[in-house]
Amino acid sequence: SAVTHRPGARVRPDSAPPARIVGAGALVPLNDGRRVPYANLDYAASAPCLEAVQDAVTQALPYYSSVHRGAGYASQVTTDAYERARETVRGFLGAWDRAAVVFTRNTTDAMNLLAHAVPQGTTVVVFETEHHASLLPWRRAVRLPAPATPAEAIAAADRALAGAPAGPRLLVVTGASNVTGELWPLRELADTAHRHGARIAVDAAQLVPHRPLDMTALGLDYAAFSGHKLYAPFGAGVLAGRGDWLRAAAPYLKGGGASASVTGHGDDVRWAPGPEQRHEAGTPNVLGAIAIAAACDTLAARWDALAEHEERLLTRLRAGLDAIPGVHELTLWGGRGPRVGIVSFVVDGLSARDVALALSGEHGIGVRDGKFCAHPFVRHLVGTAGGDCLGGDGTAVRASFGAGTTAAHIDRLIAALAALAGR
Ligand code: PLP
Repeated sequence: SAVTHRPGARVRPDSAPPARIVGAGALVPLNDGRRVPYANLDYAASAPCLEAVQDAVTQALPYYSSVHRGAGYASQVTTDAYERARETVRGFLGAWDRAAVVFTRNTTDAMNLLAHAVPQGTTVVVFETEHHASLLPWRRAVRLPAPATPAEAIAAADRALAGAPAGPRLLVVTGASNVTGELWPLRELADTAHRHGARIAVDAAQLVPHRPLDMTALGLDYAAFSGHKLYAPFGAGVLAGRGDWLRAAAPYLKGGGASASVTGHGDDVRWAPGPEQRHEAGTPNVLGAIAIAAACDTLAARWDALAEHEERLLTRLRAGLDAIPGVHELTLWGGRGPRVGIVSFVVDGLSARDVALALSGEHGIGVRDGKFCAHPFVRHLVGTAGGDCLGGDGTAVRASFGAGTTAAHIDRLIAALAALAGR
């Protein structure tokens, strides 16, 4: 598979993180008033900004202007940067030359754009393990329960697509789970979809910050992701993929940019034919696109170091959690297969909220608690994990990390949890 994973890879001893993060080492206050360096273990919610991204945005600011509409120098420079950002994203995703690359607000927006564009009567097959962004937008969806193994996922998709009514079909899956970090078998699922004349859309929000994706090699029809999970600021995301449904659909938003000409008589509007302009009405988030492109370039130059770094931290974290009585990791497939730096767990006798608040207020560690916008999935995992506090409120704690995380951050989390679990 083109999703890089090398479980047996030799790992280096602790070393500097493979990319520089804005604000690394910033101090945060504890409940008792002391200030300690922040341990940000909440990358899966929003990853901190890369210094390279900050630099790219700073460089773009002097020529900041609206794209596609002005003849002035700043407008030309900004238009050029925006369109180059599109090409950078195309390369980053391994999308083919004529693939559409639409800038959206985020993954949720990208999936809703795709839902808007699917032809009438399309059957969408989706697993209940999806993030709500990929679970909820569809008009006509067949929902599949959490599969017990990757092979079962493929078999379930196969059965559902075989039994789908005639007409267009779309399989929607995540690349990497935002709850367990586990990677889904994308090539096999793409082959399965195509065997049934279906298309496949991948929610790559948690995959592309961690691993290279090659849409062409894997045979993916669509991929979506968010800039703010890719070490860039909020407000820009991407839907990439086949252009035909997007070209045939009404503009996602109606307004300037999406309209090629408007006569002023009645509703005589000719919409832009291209899939990008047609669905990017209004002034786009140019700085967001430039930021995403800078993040893509930075990650693409460091994949090996990033994967190695994350693998080392993941091994350290899982071993640490495993050694604390009363801490239970949540995994769908045992967590032994390929996965990214996301680990969810529950602690006997403590609510997820109490754990997260104590980690923050007593230790300066940022994690996420709750159901991670994947309610059916987290409920399923918490319900089947065993342990004596479990299933209580059906919520979990999630630690997630990446390019700026150090072994010291992981060790602080393990020590804090050991203290909490032992109370
Ligand atoms: N898909 C996955 C797997 C996610 O983790 C998230 C964010 O949590 C989303 C989609 C939604 O991303 P956004 O809130 O940026 O639209």
